[in-house]
Amino acid sequence: MSLSRKQFLKFLGLGSLASGLGGFGLPLAAAQAAKARSGAPRMAIKDIEIYAFDLPLVAPFRISIGEMKAANDVLVRVRTDSGLVGVGEACPFPPITGETQATNIAAARAIRDMLIGRDPLAIDDVLRLIGPVVHSNPSMVAAFEMACFDILGQAAGLPLYRLLGGTKSTFESDITTGIDTAEATAASTRKHAGLGYKTLKIKIGVDPDQDFERLRAVRQAVGDGLTLRVDANQGYSVPQAIYSMKKIAPLGIQLVEQPVVASDVDGLKAVRAESPIPIMADEALFGPADAIRLIKAEACDFLNIKLMKAGGILNSVRIAHIADAANMRCMVGCMLESRIALTAAAHVVASQANIVFADLDGNADHTADPVVGGLTTKGGMVTMPETPGLGCDVDPTFLKKLARI
Ligand SMILES: [Mg+2]
Repeated sequence: MSLSRKQFLKFLGLGSLASGLGGFGLPLAAAQAAKARSGAPRMAIKDIEIYAFDLPLVAPFRISIGEMKAANDVLVRVRTDSGLVGVGEACPFPPITGETQATNIAAARAIRDMLIGRDPLAIDDVLRLIGPVVHSNPSMVAAFEMACFDILGQAAGLPLYRLLGGTKSTFESDITTGIDTAEATAASTRKHAGLGYKTLKIKIGVDPDQDFERLRAVRQAVGDGLTLRVDANQGYSVPQAIYSMKKIAPLGIQLVEQPVVASDVDGLKAVRAESPIPIMADEALFGPADAIRLIKAEACDFLNIKLMKAGGILNSVRIAHIADAANMRCMVGCMLESRIALTAAAHVVASQANIVFADLDGNADHTADPVVGGLTTKGGMVTMPETPGLGCDVDPTFLKKLARI
């Protein structure tokens, strides 16, 4: 088929050129793009509200390295001069990240002073500004960055996971049982199975023989049809971990998180070499540089990404990309956060194909759910909100009861 110049331009959709308007005028698409560029809104942060955000648990949550009775979180609400408000939550978990609510609040005051007047959409700039000053408070950095992403999504008119290029509107999450007696552990997992969960996570890492008895009781309680994964939270020595993995493997265990202390990457590699169960790094992984270190060391099979360790959404996505380049799959986990930070984490899961596991049950034992909108979980399936941004906010009635800092 041969086309005239006019027919060819028409075929390309450049009708104005074909009709002679232009060798000089801009084609329509280019003109629209130029208009969009010149018309993109500029925003500035006008005010930042900081609140202590305490959420008691129905019962203490025990892991091998500590016990928590409440989520003592920090809530931020970032207001812009355009009227948009972004929300973010820090959930410090002292035994793991070394932060507390008090250190987070001190960091939040400093970050607030730095960010007033700044563009909340310039998220990389925001992180480069605050990161060096408060890198020992990754949860607080995550909260501010989450609020900026909320504003970005609202400005774009897209739910965050779609803004990040994702398509997973639903995915599966596990639910976790803490350390307790064999009977209580079995009862907890039976309850979770009854709620429809297909994957159960059990905390171990105290004593390999006791852990085996607990897991055996769980397997008897829930049958062979459910997936079991375990988390030792750094509780074992290297020989204990190898012994434990060999002992529990016949119970059908999908993976084990962080069997040995976070700093011992060589030890993690040594366990991996002997373990019949795949190894997931958790506490050994905070930011993207840790992902590179663990992958180069061939120390693990999977990575467990958490916004509260990584310092937010962008670093979490960066870790997923690093893992993807190494053909490695990831999980996104959580601390004890409410559905605000859980929804932010869910947006990361929903946006990345190589995040194939989710552990987003942080609010399962909260005495209240003071969040409107956000992710919903039923029978272990998470459904994403489809409203722009994070798609959630703190309940206004609950917010009124919080003391502003
Ligand atoms: Mg873990």
